[in-house]
Amino acid sequence: MSGLALDAARRFVEAAWEQRVLPALTEYVAIPARSPHFDPDWQASGQLERAVVLAADWCRAQAVPGLRVEIVRLPGRTPLLLLEAPGRGGDTVLLYGHLDKQPEMEPWAEGLAPWRPVRRGDRLYGRGGADDGYAVFASVVALAALADQGVPHARCVALIETCEESGSFDLPAYLEHLRPRIGSPSLVVCLDSGCGDYERLWCTTSLRGIAAGVLRVRVLAEGVHSGDASGVVPSSFRIARALLARLEDADSGRILPPELSVAIPPERVAQAEEAARVLGAAHWRRFPFAGGTRPLGTSDAERILNRTWRPFLEVIGAEGLPALADAGNVLRPETALKLSLRLPPGLDAEAATARLRALLEADPPAGAEVRFEPDQATTGWNAPPLAPWLAGALERASRDWFGPPPAFMGEGGTIPFVGLLGVAFPTAQFLITGVLGPGANAHGPNEFLHLPTARRLTGCLASLLAAHADRPDGAPAG
Ligand SMILES: [Zn+2]
Repeated sequence: MSGLALDAARRFVEAAWEQRVLPALTEYVAIPARSPHFDPDWQASGQLERAVVLAADWCRAQAVPGLRVEIVRLPGRTPLLLLEAPGRGGDTVLLYGHLDKQPEMEPWAEGLAPWRPVRRGDRLYGRGGADDGYAVFASVVALAALADQGVPHARCVALIETCEESGSFDLPAYLEHLRPRIGSPSLVVCLDSGCGDYERLWCTTSLRGIAAGVLRVRVLAEGVHSGDASGVVPSSFRIARALLARLEDADSGRILPPELSVAIPPERVAQAEEAARVLGAAHWRRFPFAGGTRPLGTSDAERILNRTWRPFLEVIGAEGLPALADAGNVLRPETALKLSLRLPPGLDAEAATARLRALLEADPPAGAEVRFEPDQATTGWNAPPLAPWLAGALERASRDWFGPPPAFMGEGGTIPFVGLLGVAFPTAQFLITGVLGPGANAHGPNEFLHLPTARRLTGCLASLLAAHADRPDGAPAG
């Protein structure tokens, strides 16, 4: 029904990736376009600007009829690349990606480095290729593939931001500023998510939220001899442990306050069981466990639910602790821990943050100076029920471009944009997907883009846009 001739589309997408996308994406990987959180001087350093200009110039050179390419700059905010492709009818599809990156996370493996693009077989290594540089290229190639065959699609608007890895704090201003140009999309496509394997189209059904901030425990105005003071002055580290014990069970990692959990919808439990059947232990074996480290959870389905529907804590940074080589026998004045608490989909992040603060600051052990300073609160997301046309389109796209049918699973990460859009466009349908599969290791060392998956996903997007324009319950031409 889509009218897309598959063999020709496959050849088009393959050639476009090899000849047009890879040279530009390789250049993009080399740009240290760190998100503003990791490059507070981003305006002076100009790396975000380089990335967004590279992508804009590339888009302008592609054969998408009528494509408008614009870098939008609101004062003091990170730039945003806006693409508008005219289409059939009065309907709109909103596409999303981002060009800002996580920091280096050194060391990388032999021969690899964050800002050094290296192609090995099916993989393009380097920071930001998979998360999420490929998205803008894949979106435009999908549109070009449709144009190549004269297959209609609705008007498409792509928002490619440069603030995602910092929590998209500039995005609401752009959404408001661009609201008249975005219109009211009936379909939102986000290419910044994960995939359970590289064998099929993976649809993300939910995202976790996040509440993050710094827990600071101070016991002294300055450090003193630990032989002199221990036993009299309490350890700030021990007090931090005691405070964390209010939040999580130290043995299991379970988050204790019941108001930080939600009831998991039965359909999501059923989908997790199905995803566990497809993936088996590969779902968790992909993590590079050290030594005899065992995963949490008692079954594969439980592990999927743990990482998608349950809150868990990680301490992602610390201050007040000298490096090992510099450690003297000092009773240290302060321990500061950066806490990152993943929240279940739908749980209000502001309320969770307030709860976290109250929990940690109440009744400080030994009367120590304790503060929790929140710095990120993003509510997670649960997908609306899948419209029949979209269910059918995803099924066909996965079979046409991958072979097997699609799979549905929540993701453990947070994409602030999706939650914002879920609220802004409550009647829209969503396809949240991505290339962050086994080993891709976005945010860590040795990030890579799995090129066959990126190409197939590009094809799926073309098929989906064609099916969207063709859908029986589509908006009438206007
Ligand atoms: Zn991303």
